[in-house]
Amino acid sequence: MAGSKARVRGQQETMDTLVGSVTPDVAQNLRGLVESVRQGYLDALPIAAAIITVGADPYIECANEQFRFVAEYDERLGERRISEIPLLRAGTIGTRLAAFLKGDDPAFQFDTADNRTIGGRHFTVRFARLSVLPGQPARCMVSLIDKTAQIETEKSLRTEMLRDSLTGLPNRFAFNEKVDAVLHDPGFREGSYAVLAVDMTRFSRVNECMGAIAGDELLITFARRLVSALRPSDVLARTSGDEFGILMRLDRGPTDAFRAAERIKAVLTLPFRLSELEIRVDCAIGCAILNQGVTNADEVFRNAQFALKNAKSVGTTQIYEPLQAEAVRRRFSMETELRVAIESDRLTLAYQPLIELKTGRVAGFEALARWTDDDGRVIPPDQFIPVAEESGLIVQLGRWALETALRTLADWDRASGGRTREIGISVNMSPIQISRDDVAAAVSAALGASGISGARLTVELTESAIIKDPDRAATALNALKRLDARVAMDDFGTGYTSLASMQLLPIDALKIDRRFVSAMMDDGDSAAIVHAILSLAKALGMETTAEGIENAELALGLAELGCTYGQGFHYAEALPAAEALAYWRDRDQGRRSA
Ligand code: C2E
Ligand code: MG
Ligand code: MG
Repeated sequence: MAGSKARVRGQQETMDTLVGSVTPDVAQNLRGLVESVRQGYLDALPIAAAIITVGADPYIECANEQFRFVAEYDERLGERRISEIPLLRAGTIGTRLAAFLKGDDPAFQFDTADNRTIGGRHFTVRFARLSVLPGQPARCMVSLIDKTAQIETEKSLRTEMLRDSLTGLPNRFAFNEKVDAVLHDPGFREGSYAVLAVDMTRFSRVNECMGAIAGDELLITFARRLVSALRPSDVLARTSGDEFGILMRLDRGPTDAFRAAERIKAVLTLPFRLSELEIRVDCAIGCAILNQGVTNADEVFRNAQFALKNAKSVGTTQIYEPLQAEAVRRRFSMETELRVAIESDRLTLAYQPLIELKTGRVAGFEALARWTDDDGRVIPPDQFIPVAEESGLIVQLGRWALETALRTLADWDRASGGRTREIGISVNMSPIQISRDDVAAAVSAALGASGISGARLTVELTESAIIKDPDRAATALNALKRLDARVAMDDFGTGYTSLASMQLLPIDALKIDRRFVSAMMDDGDSAAIVHAILSLAKALGMETTAEGIENAELALGLAELGCTYGQGFHYAEALPAAEALAYWRDRDQGRRSA
């Protein structure tokens, strides 16, 4: 800025010297020449430009054709004073021009709109101070760059960007803008608004079976039905594929959101007509109330989506609960820690003895995973196995458990001089592993690496492994049988395996779930269930293991009922490998000496 002021001063001094050194005639001619050159330059400019002389009433000294057009001024009609030119007289341009002319800044530029016409015109305006002869009034050049077309294009692009072209509804961006506007409104009151996330069920199936055009038609009709269920003040947007967002005011608290959800469900009860078909479509709805703690639209919508996920599994409209989300976040961070624990070999196996009830002999051990985290806290498998299953880490964990358990058994064989060869090992296998991994190949490799024969391995599966994908389970189980391994059904009685599949599958043993075993002494129903399972196993030629034997009375009772094996705290908890071997030794010696 200081540099350009100095330049203007310098130019003025040069001009003073020039004009002062010639006669008035020459000076007049010189001025005429300068003026025609200046007009030539103005006319050559592709933008509207004019030179204004400052005085008590500033006027336009000269202007090019574009300027005359834009400023609607015609010098032949004598309108040369800027107070007579509407564009320059009032509004932003006029005010700023007056301020500029009073000051001494060499230049000033800004964007503005002339709103005197419909839709308005937009300009980038530049004032540039010009050099003047000594004692002459200040002058400046005003140029106007017409930005109207560019701004209109930007506006229409923005409208397009904020609109979902299929349904004509606002899209996710526009929706977020509206939610943000509510959140940042100075009058915003906590709990006075809610965002609903609505997900159409079965949409992808319609799209797959009937094609994208039918899918589009369904989305449009679905959107129309949603509109019909909402109040005029509610904002409906299509936020992604088959997901819609609703921003609504709550006059009576969350009840309003539930009412809206009911109305939405009600308008979906009538079937949708697509081509010749009638289709029933339902939706799941999650809701997040705009309250303390949420700072932006993205966060609100994520919360509504979280509630939506719950709504899908529960089957009814859900409101976002921060505590539930916290639990999910904890699970997520547990996933990272578990991955590190598996990779750095921080998991261990504990071995719980399986006792042959008739003889009291240790028939084998069940290998159970244990995780002690970096802070020394023991995390129970009931917490980390579901996380491993959800994240897919279970495949790695399952293979690790299999290899480690068989290796431990081989170590015991060596340490006992081969006397532990009469015992076996049971390893748990998750349904997820059955569905994702080549279980037979993993078992075969682990057997090969440890040198343990297949007959000493029992794979424990829960019923859900069979229910989820019976064909795949059958293939895996048959492959395991070919490796000579035993198959036991874990936690039996808690799932819904059909008797037909039990008959078809090569299952060697049923493990009776702890909840029936521990309750059987006091509760007639549990006792009846244990009896039924024992007779079912007998009829199908299967062995049985009772889990959770916590006292001698239970052990005795179950032995009398013909249950083959038992495990539980009455005998021992799951023990570290060395202690498990010691346990076997003690019991083995005790039996031999008895
Ligand atoms: P599960 O396979 O049914 O294992 C038996 C569970 O009952 C073990 O719990 C065991 O410690 C417990 N238990 C045994 N006897 C008694 C008793 O007398 N009283 C009581 N109250 N509990 C008893 P744990 O070790 O906490 O394991 C829980 C579940 O985690 C296991 O149930 C199994 O489903 C799963 N799990 C453990 N390790 C693995 C693994 O390596 N892979 C897979 N996929 N799942 C595993
Ligand atoms: Mg088990
Ligand atoms: Mg069990």
